[in-house]
Amino acid sequence: MSETTADRDGLLPIFDGHNDVLLAVYGGGRRSERRSFFERGSSGHLDLPRAREGGFAGGFFAVYVPPDPASRRPPMRSADAPSEEEEWATLPPPVDQPFALRLAMSLTATLFRIEEESAGEVEVVRDVASLRRCLDAGTLAAILHFEGAEAIDPQLNALDVFYRAGLRSLGLVWSRPNAFAEGVPFRFPSSPDTGPGLTAAGRDLVRACNRKGIMVDLSHLNERGFWDVAELSTAPLVATHSNAHAVTPTPRNLTDAQLDAVKASGGVVGVNFAVSFSREDGKHEADTPIDALVRHFDYLCDRMGVEHVAFGSDFDGTTVPNELGDAAGLPRLVEALRSAGFGEADLRKLGTENWVRVLERTWKA
Ligand code: ZN
Repeated sequence: MSETTADRDGLLPIFDGHNDVLLAVYGGGRRSERRSFFERGSSGHLDLPRAREGGFAGGFFAVYVPPDPASRRPPMRSADAPSEEEEWATLPPPVDQPFALRLAMSLTATLFRIEEESAGEVEVVRDVASLRRCLDAGTLAAILHFEGAEAIDPQLNALDVFYRAGLRSLGLVWSRPNAFAEGVPFRFPSSPDTGPGLTAAGRDLVRACNRKGIMVDLSHLNERGFWDVAELSTAPLVATHSNAHAVTPTPRNLTDAQLDAVKASGGVVGVNFAVSFSREDGKHEADTPIDALVRHFDYLCDRMGVEHVAFGSDFDGTTVPNELGDAAGLPRLVEALRSAGFGEADLRKLGTENWVRVLERTWKA
């Protein structure tokens, strides 16, 4: 497959806002079996063969730090998938920076090893020229992303080092408090206004990201934190994997006022495939039609315009509709979008162009 791009296979190339495959490959999830990125798996959502089949052209590869096993609560099954609703009504406890740093080091190394073993099929991109070159050539383009800044010390030493290594996108929080900000719990229904805004260290971190050209991701952040970043940041506002709160009122989704701010900043929202963030009843139920996702694409495009919407699958971090299945099933979602009236120019914007534009405005190169 390496000699043909997704384009030439007649598939829409999709650059994707969020996946958790690194944790699955590292073997650090609750399902502790390790998956290869290079063999077609029967569990989870993403690997190179399934990416090729589905037109998955690349995306943000998350470094997600699971709860410290030494803490009292049981580890989760995956990043965004509550096993029991009650378990998620309150915020998970914070994790210590040294623990997070150790995990972040392992998961970052996992990404670099995937790149090395891929013999040119996967490239970690650090600038827009490389991203464009990969998309043109059909090389799977991976952006190193931290989902939560727990690994970063308040002096920002780790930020400088990971930036040099390739970190180009940082979510201030996962759904828990840390030294910089506080994330939202998974309770349903709920407003995203669930806690305090950024700390002084959080403000310093946003300024540092702006200076370096690291994208700041607002997914998982509570509403006060969102508005703090909106006021402070000089870059377009981005939520890599969140949906419309007006359709599914989980705190993980964005209110109309938040969507309007994303649009005004020139930013983008990546549509999350999680059933519990897509269904109107918020149920964690895999027997959910693809149309539930189309509904969010529709709503977000109506509210902000097609220039501000993209894909943010959450592959390997959540439960997606059975009808979609995994990365190989992306063409079924694209087909559903076509049936809903999205034209080819719109689909190219959703697929790759919007992400490229936002990164061009955010990164320094
Ligand atoms: Zn997430």
